[in-house]
Amino acid sequence: MTSTAVVACPSCGRRNRVPAAAAGTPRCGQCHKPLPWIADAGDQDFAEVAEQAPLPVLLDLWAPWCGPCRMVSPALEELARTFAGRIKLVKVNIDSAPQTAQRFSVQAVPTLMVLDHGQVVTRQAGAAPAPALNEWLERALSEVRNSSR
Ligand SMILES: [Zn+2]
Repeated sequence: MTSTAVVACPSCGRRNRVPAAAAGTPRCGQCHKPLPWIADAGDQDFAEVAEQAPLPVLLDLWAPWCGPCRMVSPALEELARTFAGRIKLVKVNIDSAPQTAQRFSVQAVPTLMVLDHGQVVTRQAGAAPAPALNEWLERALSEVRNSSR
């Protein structure tokens, strides 16, 4: 069993339970629009939550002691809403997930990445303003589309 979060539908306001890992994209039970998908992962469930995700993953490798991480976090959650149905936001606290941090050779936090079925599409170290993140993500998603054709 993985954890679930309660997410209010941005379109109709209905509260939905959204699992951290699922085979399909979460949709609103009432209006059927895609819901923002935001999940936490650690070393134990990274494969299930991030690598096996049916959507490209926006990966946020952060740490509790990192000021820029706290600044960029709301911008990432906004992206999860803007790109609902197209991406899944997965947050990993590197202090409690040392294996995942080591695997991706994280040297600065936040480190942001886009993963497609576990493969790194793009990565960037350090925070960036929301419009720049939006552009960065759009570019990564178009690469994912091109390579899966
Ligand atoms: Zn709805």
